[in-house]
Amino acid sequence: MRFSGFKVIKEALMGHKGWGPQWRDPEPKKHYDIIIIGGGGHGLATAYYLAKEFGQKNIAVIEKGWIGGGNVGRNTTIIRSNYMLDGNGPFYEFSLKLWEGLEQDFNYNAMVSQRGILNLAHTDGQRDAYIRRGNAMILNGADAEYLTADQLRKKLPFLNFDNARFPIKGGLAQRRGGTVRHDAVAWGYARGADQRGVDIIQNCEVTGFRIKNGKCLGVETSRGFIGATKIGTAVAGSSGRLMAKADMRLPIESHVLQAFVSEGLKPVLPGVITFGAGHFYVSQSDKGGLVFGGDIDGYNTYAQRGNLPVVEDVCEGGMAIMPMIGRARLLRMWGGVMDMSMDGSPFIDKTHIDGLYFNGGWCYGGFKATPASGFCFAHLLAKDEPHEVATEFRLDRFMRGHMIDEKGMGAQPNLH
Ligand SMILES: Cc1cc2nc3c(=O)[nH]c(=O)nc-3n(C[C@H](O)[C@H](O)[C@H](O)COP(=O)(O)OP(=O)(O)OC[C@H]3O[C@@H](n4cnc5c(N)ncnc54)[C@H](O)[C@@H]3O)c2cc1C
Repeated sequence: MRFSGFKVIKEALMGHKGWGPQWRDPEPKKHYDIIIIGGGGHGLATAYYLAKEFGQKNIAVIEKGWIGGGNVGRNTTIIRSNYMLDGNGPFYEFSLKLWEGLEQDFNYNAMVSQRGILNLAHTDGQRDAYIRRGNAMILNGADAEYLTADQLRKKLPFLNFDNARFPIKGGLAQRRGGTVRHDAVAWGYARGADQRGVDIIQNCEVTGFRIKNGKCLGVETSRGFIGATKIGTAVAGSSGRLMAKADMRLPIESHVLQAFVSEGLKPVLPGVITFGAGHFYVSQSDKGGLVFGGDIDGYNTYAQRGNLPVVEDVCEGGMAIMPMIGRARLLRMWGGVMDMSMDGSPFIDKTHIDGLYFNGGWCYGGFKATPASGFCFAHLLAKDEPHEVATEFRLDRFMRGHMIDEKGMGAQPNLH
């Protein structure tokens, strides 16, 4: 089934009886060429590109819960490529380019909306740092523009420009950044992968790896053993727990990140805005809710719920830049478990175990990476070589001293 305007009109006239399931619910086979563990955005995108771009035919995605139940359906939907370091910049720009063609590519409406992102600057030093970042972005093929406080006053008069503590001096804008409807991304990739023969097996938890003589032969699951020639893991916040079953210890900590949605308001925010002196970012959904978030909870956990001190901190950030947010009522909030790497950058790499590959460490920025992460992980799994924009995402980079420390804050996950 292909989606088209004609099909929507036809179904409207026929009482919407012709829509079929978007993907099958197959029984697991005994053996696959490639198994992807984790039916989040990254796992599903990997399977999709393996089938579509790399000609792989015998693939399964194994998901312990349901498609879209993890961080892919919990994030605040922001996409951007405003990275500075060479290890990151080309990768995230590749991802943004894939977002730009994604809906046509997988024939699904993911509401990709390039409404722009603005990072506010509050000091002269921060202005200089943003201009430097903008120049690096332009060198890596992305778009960037510095807007002065006067330019911003005309566009966003409701911001608190003259806040005594955090005056707004200007901001770094990326007009091609924006938002995407997060769960439609999971559904679109799932449907596209299924159409190309990928088995999406939900309600099936991987409980262990069968490893013999340094080679991974398959996975133990809640539905029995499933063999595979290659196994790729993409379980985000569960990375530490899952890889421990292969006796691996990762340079990753798991923390909760919370998201918040206000009641529906008339259109007020044209794009995404981030606070530069604390941790707060906000956009407005097409239904009118202000969608916002801030810092991670400051302790390690695998629980998908957050705590009130961070709620207070996030709301204070919001009040500092746009006091009118204090009049909006909070409608709902939730938490997701983040795979925080020690330098804030991800991993797409082989492990020391033959046939076992790892994708993770996305911190709170992995949604925007979904298409490129899937593409590059598929490249690695199919060709056993890293894609040219993902050569730096190695697991041994801390041992070699080659961190990708985008924020320049070192090994402090709470700061990046
Ligand atoms: C509140 C919040 C806001 C965020 N905001 C943004 C944002 O605005 N922009 C941005 O770029 N990023 C954002 N992120 C980060 C982004 O959502 C994640 O980095 C990204 O979604 C992680 O990749 P994923 O989609 O594959 O993860 P997930 O959707 O979590 O997928 C992992 C899957 O693995 C499954 N799994 C785990 N263990 C097992 C097992 N043993 N067996 C089988 N399956 C297993 C889980 O059930 C899960 O479905 C945010 C995250 C949160 C929580």
